[in-house]
Amino acid sequence: MTILSLTSIQKSFGEQIVLKGVDFTVNSGEVHALLGANGAGKSTLMKILSGDYERDGGIITLNEKELTIKTPAHAKAAGIEMVVQEVDTALVSSLSIAENVTMNTFITGPAFFSWKKRYKVAQELLNRVGLTLDPAMPLSQCSLAEKQLVLIAKAISRNISFIILDEPTAALSTKEAQHLFSVLRELQKQNVGIIYISHRLPEIMELSTKVTVLKDGYVTLQKETSACTSEEIVRSMLGNELVELLN
Ligand code: ADP
Ligand code: MG
Ligand code: MG
Repeated sequence: MTILSLTSIQKSFGEQIVLKGVDFTVNSGEVHALLGANGAGKSTLMKILSGDYERDGGIITLNEKELTIKTPAHAKAAGIEMVVQEVDTALVSSLSIAENVTMNTFITGPAFFSWKKRYKVAQELLNRVGLTLDPAMPLSQCSLAEKQLVLIAKAISRNISFIILDEPTAALSTKEAQHLFSVLRELQKQNVGIIYISHRLPEIMELSTKVTVLKDGYVTLQKETSACTSEEIVRSMLGNELVELLN
C-alpha cells in the first residue's frame, strides 16, 4: 500500500533547476534508499518533504490526503520527522539528554511535567534506540553516533509515520552503523516509513527494500532492492557513458 507519494516535484535555486519533475512513492513497511551522485538533489527533495524548502511545483500526498508542506511545522504535524546530517543544529547541546529527547513530548504534553517523569520517559525512549546512557548526562558529552540516536529517540517520542535520515552513517564506524540499522529495522516492524539517503552501496543492498536514484533532475531508477544489481544502480547514478569510461 502506498503511504507517501510525491508527484512531479520541481525545485530551482535561481537559474539552477535541481528537481525537474520527481515522482517518488513509499509503501508501508519499506526502507527506501534514495541515491544519486553528489549534487543530484537528494537533500533538496527530502528538505521539501520536511518543510525546510518550499517546492516550486508538484503534489505530496500522505495516506491519500494531499499535504501543504511549506514549513517544518507542517511536516511535523503530518508525522514526518527528519534526521538531518547536521545533528547539532537539531539538538540543544547545553541541555541534558533527557531534556533533548523529551522536547516534543514536553511541548505537546501536560503543562506540568516533573523532572522525574521526564527522566523516566527519556529512559524508555533511549531504550527503544538501544542507548544505555544516563538521561541526566549533558548532551555535549555524547558522540556523534549517540547524538543521532538521541535525535531518533526524540523523533519517535511522537507517533510518527515517517522518518527521513540524510546520510546517517557518513561519520559512523561499522559497529555504530550496524547498531543504527538494527534500530531502523525495529522501526520498520512498527510500520514507520523509513527514507534513507546514502552513498554506500553495500549498506543499501543490506538495509533497503527499495531504491530510488536521482540524476539530472529526474528519477532514473525506482525498484525493489532485491531486483537490482549494484552495477545497475551505479549506471543509473552516473549514466552509461561514465560507467563505460570507468571500466
Ligand atoms: P545532494 O544531497 O544530492 O548531494 P543537494 O540537494 O544538496 O544534493 O543539492 C543539489 C543542488 O542544489 C546543488 O547544486 C546545490 O548547490 C543546490 N542547492 C541545494 N540547496 C541550495 C540552497 N539552499 N541554495 C542554493 N542552492 C542550493
Ligand atoms: Mg551531497
Ligand atoms: Mg545531500
